[in-house]
Amino acid sequence: MKRTMVSKQSVKRRSSVSGAPQLIEDLVAANRILAAQGVLDGFGHVSVRHDRHPARYIMSRARAPELVTADDLMEYDLDSNPRDARGRSMYLERFIHGEIYKVRPDVNAVVHHHSPSVIPFGVTPMPLRPLYHVSAFLGDGAPVFEIRNAGGMTDMLVRTPALGRALAQSLGGKPAALMRGHGAVVVGPSLPVTVGRSIYMAINATLQAQAMALGNVAYLDLEEARLAGTHEAMGFERSWELWKRKAPK
Ligand code: MN
Repeated sequence: MKRTMVSKQSVKRRSSVSGAPQLIEDLVAANRILAAQGVLDGFGHVSVRHDRHPARYIMSRARAPELVTADDLMEYDLDSNPRDARGRSMYLERFIHGEIYKVRPDVNAVVHHHSPSVIPFGVTPMPLRPLYHVSAFLGDGAPVFEIRNAGGMTDMLVRTPALGRALAQSLGGKPAALMRGHGAVVVGPSLPVTVGRSIYMAINATLQAQAMALGNVAYLDLEEARLAGTHEAMGFERSWELWKRKAPK
């Protein structure tokens, strides 16, 4: 009798997030890495597309990324409806993730962050551009999402499907977009690449502001950015192993 109840419980628990164990482990690690690297603080989030159901994504319940465990993870459809909420609260801005996965089949991971270093580039005409090899993915610059164009006066949060769609439209086919007066969204083909892009985007922003204070900046040429980009996945995998080991459990 007792055994039956336990097994029912464990089946129910497994069914709430059905992604591959490696994917779940990497998503928990991504949360902790981005917090440890200072890209995410109490706010911001990271998600991954489901490995067997491309019309679903996995993301934590509303919780500070540094504290996220496998038990916090939830599955969503691409309209950002939870499959099994069980009363858990959800990130208000989950539509960022669902609406991007809808229109970008090449994207398997999404990060939304508020790194202070990128904020100046969303509120001034100065474009964020790559000035060193590991941020080559920025190419000819990151587009800026102006929420006023999409929703007029708002509380600045992407809290509706329509705002999510507008953000996805601003992002277009790019790997990252700035959100004016708010932060950024970063996408990629995998968690390691997307986490790496998020970290190096934030560092690039700091370096760019420092370099601009010194004088004229020599940015990566578009051709250099293209050539350097081919090393990205491999390079980030090496960093990923290190970040994962150093991130608090
Ligand atoms: Mn936000």
